[in-house]
Amino acid sequence: MLLIGIVPGLIYIELACLNIFIFSLAYVFSTFYLSPDLDVDSRIYKRWKLLKIVWKPYKDLFKHRHMSHHIIFGPISLIGYFAFLIFLLVLAVGAEVNIFDVRLLIPCAGMFVAIELHILADMIVKKKSKK
Ligand SMILES: [Zn+2]
Repeated sequence: MLLIGIVPGLIYIELACLNIFIFSLAYVFSTFYLSPDLDVDSRIYKRWKLLKIVWKPYKDLFKHRHMSHHIIFGPISLIGYFAFLIFLLVLAVGAEVNIFDVRLLIPCAGMFVAIELHILADMIVKKKSKK
């Protein structure tokens, strides 16, 4: 009888841990590879090595520290562009993915938080440098 209560609890904990892991992975990935500074020849842009060519349209489209560093449109444009690239990759491979899957919100949230923190840090540095 006790097992009936424990098993769903363990499954819930396991799912929560998996979600935290996915969130963290997306956060770290975004910190090192998906920053608003992809709009210039930054260190993050250069980290993409040969694949940095896929970020060229994003770089050309956004002027540095404008739309890409906007508190709302910055993460939306960056995650949207990255999702578009992943979508093209999935299409090229021929796999199927449900873009309306709620579980996709978890990595998006991890990326969103990392991008927002970058934008906030830039705002703080910009304010301090003006003083
Ligand atoms: Zn920046």
